[in-house]
Amino acid sequence: MSTIFAKIIARQAPADIVYQDDLVTAFKDIRPLAPVHILIVPNKEIRTVNDVTPEDEQMLGHMFVVAKQVAAEMGIAETGYRLLVNCGGDAGQEVYHLHMHLLGGRRLGPVLARRD
Ligand code: AMP
Repeated sequence: MSTIFAKIIARQAPADIVYQDDLVTAFKDIRPLAPVHILIVPNKEIRTVNDVTPEDEQMLGHMFVVAKQVAAEMGIAETGYRLLVNCGGDAGQEVYHLHMHLLGGRRLGPVLARRD
């Protein structure tokens, strides 16, 4: 089942696309959690990290290269940023089309709160 991200990649749904090539598309998150919040998404529909295969390795590495590039363009390369990928229910994945969050532009705090 396709998600809204497939439509955004095909430019059939609105989004603020900041980068696109043959392998990935990067666009602004609609509900940003930080001044910079970009999603870097494979053009190929992959549901979760559990569904990646060895043949995806080039694209997966490319996601990092694009993240670095977009971070620099957004002016947060030096101040720092966080790259985050949710997988499945316990991680709170909402959209089942693999994506990497690029977050920055403020102090982000700890990744997880301690429960003890
Ligand atoms: P995740 O919880 O990792 O699945 O994150 C999904 C992200 O997609 C959330 O941060 C949403 O705000 C974002 N999102 C959902 N729909 C859209 C959309 N149409 N355009 C941009 N971002 C979206």
